[in-house]
Amino acid sequence: MSGELWLRDARLPGGRRGDIAIRDGRVAAIGAMTSAAANAQVIHAGGCLVLPGFVDGHAHLDKTLWGLPWHSHRAGPTIAERIDNERRVLRALDLSPQAQSARLVRHMVSRGTTHVRTHVDVAPELGLAHLHAVQAMAESLHEAIDVQVVAFPQCGVMTRPGTLDLLDQAAREGAQVIGGLDPIGIDGDLNGQLDAIFAIAARRGCDIDIHLHDLGEAGAATIEKIAERTATLGLRGRVAVSHAFCLGMLDEPRLEALIDRLLDNDIALMTHAPAGGVPFPPIRLLAARGVRLFTGSDGVRDAWGPLNSGDMLERAYLLAYCSGFRDDAGLELTLGMATHGGASVVRVAPYGIEVGAPADLVLVEAENEAEAVALHPPRRLVLKRGKVVARDGQASMTALDSRLRGNDMAAP
Ligand SMILES: [Zn+2]
Repeated sequence: MSGELWLRDARLPGGRRGDIAIRDGRVAAIGAMTSAAANAQVIHAGGCLVLPGFVDGHAHLDKTLWGLPWHSHRAGPTIAERIDNERRVLRALDLSPQAQSARLVRHMVSRGTTHVRTHVDVAPELGLAHLHAVQAMAESLHEAIDVQVVAFPQCGVMTRPGTLDLLDQAAREGAQVIGGLDPIGIDGDLNGQLDAIFAIAARRGCDIDIHLHDLGEAGAATIEKIAERTATLGLRGRVAVSHAFCLGMLDEPRLEALIDRLLDNDIALMTHAPAGGVPFPPIRLLAARGVRLFTGSDGVRDAWGPLNSGDMLERAYLLAYCSGFRDDAGLELTLGMATHGGASVVRVAPYGIEVGAPADLVLVEAENEAEAVALHPPRRLVLKRGKVVARDGQASMTALDSRLRGNDMAAP
């Protein structure tokens, strides 16, 4: 085997049809080409649209109930009630976070995801068990997906003594990102939580990604304080805020002032378009102002709810649907959040359909990106570093399959 793969007759960015030559896992050439090396593998794309591998910028792999019998959702409506319910469910089920995260990753790969940022629970009653489990999963499945781990204090920081030491230890043991959670709503200590997690990130060279569900002025004040610390500690471009529901409910002057703070510090925003009428950031306005936007699945079929699917093309559709986008530019914007926006946050470069980038590619039957989002059709082929990892919606990588059999799992 020469290590060379040719995708013949694919629909390329811009709509023209052509070929992609892949050598040693990277895109080597794009365009109309005449002859492949004699021993190159050739895959006929049949005019399918080629997209960059999807980036799921916000997942919770360690807590999924994927592959298990149906779990009826019974949590109360508040964040605190959902956290308590999740603790009860996970204690009762006593699942393996390594096996569960592998199950979900297999599904995500089958849907075209080639990179994932996952928030992994770190708490005194868990220690770093979930972190170690997800790291082991990521190592065993690295041929199929790149996993970036956020050490995530799901139960609070200042109100849970011992959590800060665990976050610091997680950073020393390989977590690339330090998480946070509603400093006002959960901890009641805006400055305390932010000072503590920013100090760890600055000391350990980690990025930061903070869950912010707090609404209205509580959320707005939190974003201001996040921006202040980002500037003070020189973490420009390395901080993200996830959800930021408050940005969907502020008056224009307040929103504009916060957008300026986000831009000053190149703070990225994650939204997955929450269900049930919860406000969420105005995507088109933020993108037009230049705010970096990305998206993710959030919890997939877990104790927080059963509706998220782990399919980033469907996620782009949902973002467009909930935002009321109908035009091509709007649909392309949401796809961009699931591709290049996410790649910038997990800091993958080069990325995309360009010579020299790793050949992380997805083929779908669509005329263009807008149609791919509108239809979110089956993934015909998924390549990770130039190797086929899924075909026709099924993860197909040999190493992946054998490792999953080793974990005694059937395909979900
Ligand atoms: Zn989350």
